[in-house]
Amino acid sequence: MAVLVQKFGGTSVATAERIHAAARRAIKAQQAGNQVVVVVSARGDTTDELIAMAREICDQPPPREMDMLLATGEQISIALLAMAIHSLGGTAVSFTGAQVGIVTDSTHTKARIKSISTARMRQALAAGSIVIVAGFQGIDEAGNITTLGRGGSDTTAVALAAVLKHEGGYRDDVGCEIYTDVDGVYTTDPRLVPEAQKMDFISYDEMLELASAGAAVMHSRSIEFAKKYDVPVMVRSAFSDVEGTWIVPEQDWMRQEPACGVAIVKDEARVLLDGVPDQPGVSHRVFSALAERNIVVDMIAQGLGSDGKAAIGFTVPKAELREALKILQPLAASLGATVTAAEDVSKISLVGAGMRTHTGVAERMFAALASEKINMQMITTGDIKISVLVDRQDAMRALRAVHRAFGLHRERPKLPQAVKLEDVLHAAQSSLHSENGRDLYRRLSSMEDILISDIRLVSDYGQITVSHLADVPGNCHHIFQAVADAGINVDMIVQNLGAGGRADLSFSVPQSDLTLARQQAEKIVREIDPSARVSADSDIAVLFVFGVGMRTHTGVARKMFGALAERQINIRMINTSEVCISVVVEQTRGREALECLRQTFELNHLTNGQ
Ligand code: ADP
Ligand code: ASP
Ligand code: MG
Repeated sequence: MAVLVQKFGGTSVATAERIHAAARRAIKAQQAGNQVVVVVSARGDTTDELIAMAREICDQPPPREMDMLLATGEQISIALLAMAIHSLGGTAVSFTGAQVGIVTDSTHTKARIKSISTARMRQALAAGSIVIVAGFQGIDEAGNITTLGRGGSDTTAVALAAVLKHEGGYRDDVGCEIYTDVDGVYTTDPRLVPEAQKMDFISYDEMLELASAGAAVMHSRSIEFAKKYDVPVMVRSAFSDVEGTWIVPEQDWMRQEPACGVAIVKDEARVLLDGVPDQPGVSHRVFSALAERNIVVDMIAQGLGSDGKAAIGFTVPKAELREALKILQPLAASLGATVTAAEDVSKISLVGAGMRTHTGVAERMFAALASEKINMQMITTGDIKISVLVDRQDAMRALRAVHRAFGLHRERPKLPQAVKLEDVLHAAQSSLHSENGRDLYRRLSSMEDILISDIRLVSDYGQITVSHLADVPGNCHHIFQAVADAGINVDMIVQNLGAGGRADLSFSVPQSDLTLARQQAEKIVREIDPSARVSADSDIAVLFVFGVGMRTHTGVARKMFGALAERQINIRMINTSEVCISVVVEQTRGREALECLRQTFELNHLTNGQ
């Protein structure tokens, strides 16, 4: 018998009528022959109200007690839904996270799932009950109630589907539906941009990047589970029967368009550490201090040093700035550096698996922003993502401009006629699911452990750096246009705003194009800002570490920087995303860095290109 996990978000259980509607859906799914597990969130704004309640008592409530309080929201929902199912003649049994055996680590308010026992669920399902589970919560090994972070009920739902599939003995017959207040995943938040379009399909990687870049429609960690454990997920409306959006393994036809969506994080903060010694181990010290406190560092732009000093720029969520500065101030003092922060910034990220094959994507994005006269304070790129940091007051205009520039207001591509839905849902899986991949699983000591699947070294790239570029709208666009005009494909881009309002811009190009790229950059820089300097470096190696959910697992970058620092290998450029972290090192150290990272992540059996 198939198992269907249905998750209802806060608005979908906000009123008695909606709880009854959710109950009817669950019963209908059961009558259609499924065993049904329902995950529910707290009703309406309950979680916000509970947070406000705690703040009335004290400024910084102890995290353990916060979790004790927050978990009550979901507990109300499960009991009410079970009652509704009974009132409609069905059978249901409700469980808290702890009762159903969701064991997490002890990081209160952002705990990670370690294991889930399927025994109690299977027993209740076999007895013909609908199983109702409180989302967003678990219990740690010491018996304390924990919560998974805002929006975490999605993660509970997909994690339950994953564990039932792999340990509950249901294999391919497990589905997961996320019922919410929109009828699917859109090209951007339809509340912000009404012309946004619904997608029929989106790949795991794209959804992961969009969610972690601000698209709150899914909790990004839920997509890590979906990808790691092969669970196709459908996001759909709780208020209608319209088909929603399938989140599935990536397929060739999904790369037809360069981009699938744009996301925004309105409240970011930019931190600049200026005048840090340009030596191995410095980034490690900075980022490991932050990672230890579970602060997710987002965009990282490390400028090329001069006079033995470098600038490290990065962003953190605005809400975490205070804590980040508390950690950074003493650290900066000990490094002889200064630390400054800007709070009025927002991040716009363009995402698309199509970036793997399309060229000129960054150039097109920068052109859209330049035509709106919007300045980019920072730029970072990932495998399938480009993020820019802009002034908060420009953010909405930037979002709309980028959305339009990629034609995202037009109807989205449909499933090609020759492709069958069944094949998409059970598509040949990524390397994570090969023999090699299964081997990787077995080494996971807990369900949310980071899974590193591959590490590669690329030595045929060169780097162009434009330093001390005047920080005015359009400058980056002009440079990338000049490079694109010469038919040169740009790979990694990092731009950092240094002290004194001057920007440092670095990007990588194929080594065979390095001289031409330099000439193009020099020519345009002479026109737009003669005081800026252009340099080219053919002596670089790029290391790519692939995995799932790498940015939010603060430990990965820390481990990576730590291992390189230990070998005295200097990191010159860094790019982070959920599916890939890449670093640029000196070419002569490339092989050694590759070996070192493979050892660190226990991937010694791989050979380059495998
Ligand atoms: P739930 O309570 O059901 O979990 P959320 O509020 O967490 O619902 O998520 C749904 C909301 O996500 C939508 O109402 C929408 O405003 C927002 N959203 C943000 N980005 C997107 C997007 N790309 N597509 C659809 N909805 C989005
Ligand atoms: N109730 C929690 C929140 O509001 C979890 C969730 O809704 O997913 O964040
Ligand atoms: Mg949500």
